Amino acid sequence: MKVLVINAGSSSLKYQLIDMEDESVKAKGLCERIGIDGSRLTHKVPGKDDYVVEEDMPTHQKAIEMVLDALVSPEYGVVASVDEIDAVGHRVLHGGSTYTESIKVNDDVKRVIRECFDLGPLHNPANLMGIEACEAAMPGKANVAVFDTAFGMGLEPYAYRYAIPEEYYDKYKIRRYGFHGTSHMFVSGETIRFANLPEGHQRVIVCHLGNGSSISASVGGRAVDTSMGLTPLEGLVMGTRSGDVDPAVVQFICDHENISVDDMLTILNKKSGVYALSGNLSSDFRDLSAAADSGNEKAQLALDAFAHKVVKTVGGYLGVMNGADAIAFTGGIGENDCAMRERIMKQFGFAGVKLDPEKNKVRGKACEISTPDSAIRVFVLPTNEELAIARETVRLA
Ligand code: AMP
Repeated sequence: MKVLVINAGSSSLKYQLIDMEDESVKAKGLCERIGIDGSRLTHKVPGKDDYVVEEDMPTHQKAIEMVLDALVSPEYGVVASVDEIDAVGHRVLHGGSTYTESIKVNDDVKRVIRECFDLGPLHNPANLMGIEACEAAMPGKANVAVFDTAFGMGLEPYAYRYAIPEEYYDKYKIRRYGFHGTSHMFVSGETIRFANLPEGHQRVIVCHLGNGSSISASVGGRAVDTSMGLTPLEGLVMGTRSGDVDPAVVQFICDHENISVDDMLTILNKKSGVYALSGNLSSDFRDLSAAADSGNEKAQLALDAFAHKVVKTVGGYLGVMNGADAIAFTGGIGENDCAMRERIMKQFGFAGVKLDPEKNKVRGKACEISTPDSAIRVFVLPTNEELAIARETVRLA
């Protein structure tokens, strides 16, 4: 079975064609600048040069048509015809409080995705355009929506409700949803499998640390808590997102700087995080580590604040689950930044966590990095959201 995975943004569209026989990626690519001048498609097939098409892409519909042309192209294609694609899996940001798991797309599903436009104003409209473009280009083919919020829908009310007047929950479903859900679902499941954790011993903390960062606690693959909230702004200190701040900060700065709440949210999303703490040096941890190593105090502060918040969150989840059977690191930082992993895990030495310094040198591949006598087993486990979407698509299509 071959599954096309689509991640549609407002002006971009990423895709992968995955052969589910062996879960190999046959081709992948990116359409950029959809609806803007200078649009282009970059199509990659393992073992071949990149195939680049520069052509107007006024709509997502046109983008999908170009993707299908590339996939069947005699020179750069990987299938003889579109008929060989069995189903399409779509990353959809927000399923609101309606969908607790992935679902095959029908008119009701599209209505809910539309109803969630105000909860995911940047992503949901684009995700829906991606679905409708696939429906038009490949009529009759199963489309599956995989929601980034689904994993967080497993939380108990005491974990997802904000302690604010009930009417806001009743009227608007203001609650913690959690994001990176597909990654947390995939990595917690892979950790259980990779570590061979027996039933009853499947308490897993996943640290998804990248440009956007979040941490989840789950038991047997079911979420118990997760650090992001109504939007991906809550929780950890991130690349350019502030993470948790006292909401009064918003009012204070808006009043004193005479800016709108919208402006303030842009600042909290795009100009904060380690980028801000480092004095606008960089949001990239490689730059920050290099600067800190050569004595840059602001870069050091940014790294310290990041690690501090991760430690507080992991510690909180250890309490919530009465311990853990495994901790997994994933995302660009989690998979590659050995020094950051070491400093975070060192704080749990009191609880008997011990990393093996040699094993902790691993980058970007699944590995157990704790010592055999560590009280909690620690892993690096690369995330693969596209594969998670493809597996969900096979399950439902
Ligand atoms: P992501 O958003 O998951 O792609 O992660 C991006 C982040 O991973 C970037 O901010 C980089 O700082 C970080 N990253 C990637 N490779 C490394 C590395 N070798 N060492 C430290 N950080 C890394």
